[in-house]
Amino acid sequence: MLRVPFCAVYATNRTPESGFLPTPGRQEGPGPVDLMGFTGNATLTHSGMGTEISHRALGRNARKALRAALAESERLERLLSRFVPESDISRLNRSAGAGWVSLHPHTFMLLSAADKFFKCSGGAFDITICPLMELWHFHNASMLPNKGKIIHMLPLVDGGGLQLDPAANRARLMKSGQSVDLGGIGKGYAADRFIELFKEYRCRSAWTNLGGNVSLLGNRPDGNPWTVGIRHPRVKGRLLGAIKAHDCSVVTSGDYERCFTGPDGILYHHILNPATGWPADSGLISVTVISQSAVTADALSTAVFVAGLEKGMMLLQDFQDADAVLVDREMTVFVTERLMDRFAAAEGITFTAIR
Ligand code: ADP
Ligand code: MG
Repeated sequence: MLRVPFCAVYATNRTPESGFLPTPGRQEGPGPVDLMGFTGNATLTHSGMGTEISHRALGRNARKALRAALAESERLERLLSRFVPESDISRLNRSAGAGWVSLHPHTFMLLSAADKFFKCSGGAFDITICPLMELWHFHNASMLPNKGKIIHMLPLVDGGGLQLDPAANRARLMKSGQSVDLGGIGKGYAADRFIELFKEYRCRSAWTNLGGNVSLLGNRPDGNPWTVGIRHPRVKGRLLGAIKAHDCSVVTSGDYERCFTGPDGILYHHILNPATGWPADSGLISVTVISQSAVTADALSTAVFVAGLEKGMMLLQDFQDADAVLVDREMTVFVTERLMDRFAAAEGITFTAIR
């Protein structure tokens, strides 16, 4: 029986939205903010980057740290959201096929990271997936897009068409009609920034949870590691298991988020195979990656989900500190060897070590 202690953090992917959809209520101001706690211990929940974000921090400056995190979330959304017309990403997308666009150094850094994951994943991770995301519009989809349109859009999905000029922090999209969507990596970048801020404000211990993507600073206040639950991909409200961790990020990509059942009874979900334009069908239904860097965990969870078990494991080996919990469509659970003594399966779940 899995007993999850009081301080557990749940990676439950609570909110279905991602891909930097507009945040509800954002137009009317920052929306409801809940900053609670006494000096030394504070929690904050707010919306941002298309999802619900919660943080908890401990330390003398905890409240200031959380206020800084909220401001950072708003800054990143203004910079990175493809739904904010003057964001760097919107300007880049509008200039596709037309020339270079100057970017904030942080946008440039994130695009460079995305490019690295595009290359090392053999194209499984590709932020130029955007035209297809628009076609599928998973946030309110119930119908399949036209097959001809998918085929027509496919040549635009080509990460090689994103060119980067590090000397001038500029980027360009080579083909007119190309566009980028940071939904598969942006929340990771935000999480890394929040943890940096918590360190700057000298918090001893903290977590941040972006719609189920969890990053941890230090241990729990009692000195024990945090417990991060991984959602059961097929039974709502249940856990698959939990991981004991500190100072790292735990990010899950699953086929049960932002999905719909088509008229053919098939589940269509929001992680697309850039090679086909259709939802990835690699055999994996949930991929959790644990890494010190949330950017790495976010991009790799998406990439491994697309690549499948065999190629995904090869990809993970390029990243020294990355571990994973993978679930295939037969509900076989694979746990990387190094993680075996930190992973506890929920009742009725068995798992196998993998390297
Ligand atoms: P979530 O956003 O639910 O945490 P992921 O991190 O796996 O899940 O990201 C999925 C999002 O990434 C999609 O909503 C879309 O914005 C984008 N995306 C979809 N397919 C790909 C892909 N093959 N490569 C890169 N980004 C993708
Ligand atoms: Mg991701």
